[in-house]
Amino acid sequence: MYTIRYCYMQIRVKESNMNTSTKTLPEGYVQSVEINLKKNKRLALKLNIAGLPVMILSFFLFSSLVALARPSLMDTTGTVTAGVIVVIVGLTVTLLTIHELVHGFFFWAFTRSRPVFDLHLFYACAGAPDWYIPARKYAVSALGPLVIIDAVGFLLMLLVPLGWVLAPVYMMAMNTAGSTGDLYILTRVLKLSPTSLVNDTGDVVTFYEHISTISNP
Ligand SMILES: [Zn+2]
Repeated sequence: MYTIRYCYMQIRVKESNMNTSTKTLPEGYVQSVEINLKKNKRLALKLNIAGLPVMILSFFLFSSLVALARPSLMDTTGTVTAGVIVVIVGLTVTLLTIHELVHGFFFWAFTRSRPVFDLHLFYACAGAPDWYIPARKYAVSALGPLVIIDAVGFLLMLLVPLGWVLAPVYMMAMNTAGSTGDLYILTRVLKLSPTSLVNDTGDVVTFYEHISTISNP
């Protein structure tokens, strides 16, 4: 009886270790995949190109949702003025910042240490360069901004005055398109064994898998 309980506790400890972010790579782990958008310009270009149809599709999808949720919008018309352009630029910068802050929040939640933020000319990124984060937790931080910001956008779409309703539609479309890279990384992370660890410096995402989980080394 005691032995069984002891074993059970041992297993629990193993499980909780597997589920915790760590600063040192545990024994038996080897690097499997590196996603480096700085080095892999082809992939960076592909993801940027893929973002465009995602943006157009989500804009139509979210506009149709607005038409369904708030039919009175059909009577309103708008014109593009300098003010509108200022609002769009302001929204884009705010959105980009919030998107990275949400990634950063999850990195903080999983490591309890301050994430890093980096701003480049064409993209911004968040990372936790000193940490190896369990794959499933990493998946949550990758998907976080897409789910949370789009959910907030959806609520705003239902609540804001009609004249402003295109702002949350734009916000959701931009955020969805901006998450193309996150979705790509997510598809790769989901193929990993749950015991795998992920290191994200902001620019470079590296996967580490336990030797025992790699079938074709
Ligand atoms: Zn992102």
